[in-house]
Amino acid sequence: MSLDNILSLGLAETQARLAKREISSLELTRHLLDCIKEKDGDLGAYLTVDADGALKAAKASDERRSLGQGLGPVDGVPVALKDMILTKGLKTTAASRILENFIPPYEATVSQKLKDAGAVVLGKLNQDEFAMGSSNESSAFKPCKNPWDLSRTPGGSSGGSAACVAGGLAYGTLGTDTGGSIRQPAAYCGVTGLKPTYGRVSRYGVVAFASSLDQVGPMTRDVRGCAQMLEVIAGHDERDSTSVQLPVGNYVAELEKPLKGRRIGVPKEFFSVSGMDEEVRSNVKNSVQLLKELGATIVDISLPSTPHAVATYYVLSAAEASSNLCRYDGVRYGPRLAADQGLRAMYEETRGQLFGPEVKRRIMLGTYVLNAGYYDAYYLRAQKVRRLFRNDFDTAFESVDAIICPTAPTTAFKLGEKVSDPLQMYLNDIFTISANLAGLPALSLCTGLSSNKLPIGTQLIGRPFEESVVLNIAYALEQELKVNTVSPFVSRS
Ligand code: GLN
Repeated sequence: MSLDNILSLGLAETQARLAKREISSLELTRHLLDCIKEKDGDLGAYLTVDADGALKAAKASDERRSLGQGLGPVDGVPVALKDMILTKGLKTTAASRILENFIPPYEATVSQKLKDAGAVVLGKLNQDEFAMGSSNESSAFKPCKNPWDLSRTPGGSSGGSAACVAGGLAYGTLGTDTGGSIRQPAAYCGVTGLKPTYGRVSRYGVVAFASSLDQVGPMTRDVRGCAQMLEVIAGHDERDSTSVQLPVGNYVAELEKPLKGRRIGVPKEFFSVSGMDEEVRSNVKNSVQLLKELGATIVDISLPSTPHAVATYYVLSAAEASSNLCRYDGVRYGPRLAADQGLRAMYEETRGQLFGPEVKRRIMLGTYVLNAGYYDAYYLRAQKVRRLFRNDFDTAFESVDAIICPTAPTTAFKLGEKVSDPLQMYLNDIFTISANLAGLPALSLCTGLSSNKLPIGTQLIGRPFEESVVLNIAYALEQELKVNTVSPFVSRS
């Protein structure tokens, strides 16, 4: 098969070709490394490329296969990781100057699991600094662009992870999602992205942003690819006490279950926000209709706390971030400035010069809401409101098995459009945040293209640890809609 066409395939199909030995992992990896060299200058998805490591892993995979010892669903498949995920011996920056040139002395559990399963890690991906942002524009190093239209954002904070898959520069990537950072970029770039249930996937070795919300999850072109990657990375990890002891689901095996009998809720609050794009609304409604035709029961539901999502999230996530980011003090990680001018000057210069403006804004906001005088009014109140989100979902899940709604109010916006207005940027997360506040699994898949050829994302939210249900529904939609999710960037030479 031609090497060009292979870039437009999904992870599952590519893996099947590797398994049948129609192509070798080494050929494929070399081709992708060439494409990255040639094209990523325009896209900006990669921060670090590990050609040597990738070629070595590809060779090992081919050897296993030739001995009939292939390792399964990701063996030999070229993947890449958001730069929040620590890779032993390979630079990990969280897209921040404060971690510039940081070489981790240990490996995150998620990347270790992928490597143990034979995946070929091509490199580390661009993102918003410390995963704070919705457009990838707060990366300290370079912007990342949307493969569907290079003048637009790929979304954020896992913008590089989404653009990389949509641009044909890896088959699967890992992102992190604290308030929507896997799903919103997945929607903007026309790929599938899954935020697992809080506790489903280990966060050992993942740079912390807001620890009560952060989760790692897969991004692929195809729904099956996401299921395959999740099976590899999910599971209890004794080094992460927030990871749960539950067995990993049969995500791939359950993809093709019939939808008959599934009850799917449509939350009215998600279709009536101001500034919502009409094309997004009608596209998602179209998917609702389709699910009905496939045998699902559609139920109108209400998630009344939705209007409070953004405010609640930005108080809690900033509070946690201000505490998590204390560790970057010029002593333990990365560069140290003004070391000869005393302790205070060293802290001030290191943090003042090496954190970007968005990160500083969050640290200041977080410090403010945790301040003794304001703690009750903001932080404590936000914690109480957070409980209401869980209650809303508990009530909804009494009558439905999953929820369908848009992933974001619009398609990808122009680079530069919202950078100077943080509030507008924050409002973009209105549909994704609730699932984080309640710790639920949620997935975004591409359900169509707008009239100006930009991907539209539909979100599915499930009960805790019912990733297999959202994957099953997403798979049914994907098979039925057959959206051509190959971005124009893939065929650019
Ligand atoms: N856009 C949100 C924020 O800036 C979400 C980020 C994320 O999920 N990491 O906080």
